[in-house]
Amino acid sequence: KLYNQVQDLKGNIRVYCRIRPFLPRGPTGLSTAEALDGQTISIITPAKNGKGKKLFTFNKVFGPSASQEEVFSDTQPLIRSVLDGYNVCIFAYGQTGSGKTYTMTGPQELTPESLGVNYRALSDLFFISQQRKDSMSYDVFVQMIEIYNEQVRDLLVSDGVNKNILGENCVTVHVQGRNLTSGSITCGSMHLVDLAGSERADKTDAVGDRLKESQHINRSLSALGDVIASLAQKQSHIPYRNSKLTQLLQDSLGGQAKTLMFIHISPEPDALAETVSTLKFAERVS
Ligand code: ADP
Ligand code: MG
Repeated sequence: KLYNQVQDLKGNIRVYCRIRPFLPRGPTGLSTAEALDGQTISIITPAKNGKGKKLFTFNKVFGPSASQEEVFSDTQPLIRSVLDGYNVCIFAYGQTGSGKTYTMTGPQELTPESLGVNYRALSDLFFISQQRKDSMSYDVFVQMIEIYNEQVRDLLVSDGVNKNILGENCVTVHVQGRNLTSGSITCGSMHLVDLAGSERADKTDAVGDRLKESQHINRSLSALGDVIASLAQKQSHIPYRNSKLTQLLQDSLGGQAKTLMFIHISPEPDALAETVSTLKFAERVS
């Protein structure tokens, strides 16, 4: 209830930011990003005289020690609204290695604690639909697709093709609910999207296939940014047609739909340039 009231006040777009911890076998050093409180992140930027600090605020900021459960608990109200007939999109944005797949799926070796948003969302969806079984009957359809170079590929069809994921991939869940008393039907959907690494969009020095890939990713991510920014500013024209991704999600972005953007930040100093560009993207859409 409260969540929905907050949503009404703030619009239907929320931005959460998550800072990845340093990795056991990766480079160490001083983190360039710090979660100051639940809503503010501080970034150390090079300034004229020594070091500068820049603050960004979002609906939520998770520090490096935030657990998968903690991150999901702020996402959970969205799952209920899917069963109530809303369309929900959850995106993971950030440079390669910043933790997008970790948030959405989990680490390579999954444990019950490390399960990501996708698993928890689906499990909640079934759990809540069970709780409502005396009044509602639900049909759930799951789809997994990938967009690579503006081509859409079904990841669940076994056609003998190696399903190495190269591009942006989403789990899509359609939920049709029937009220057992009145017979009325509700249709909700949930798109869980692991976006392409944001740094892959500006490989302008690439050639051949890499350049083509970079241009497609650039188109896709900037089209998504443009759509969400124009929704946030309540503009009358929303530019959905500029990429496959935004075309596919057209019905699930805008209107009554709810959007959650997870922004991922790597703590390493050498990621700073990309971190700043990620935060600029996030500022634009929030
Ligand atoms: P991306 O999908 O953005 O390229 P990954 O999710 O693959 O990044 O994360 C890169 C590495 O960091 C992986 O080894 C992953 O398990 C690890 N990692 C990411 N986020 C976290 C986290 N919050 N806690 C612990 N390890 C993490
Ligand atoms: Mg990934």
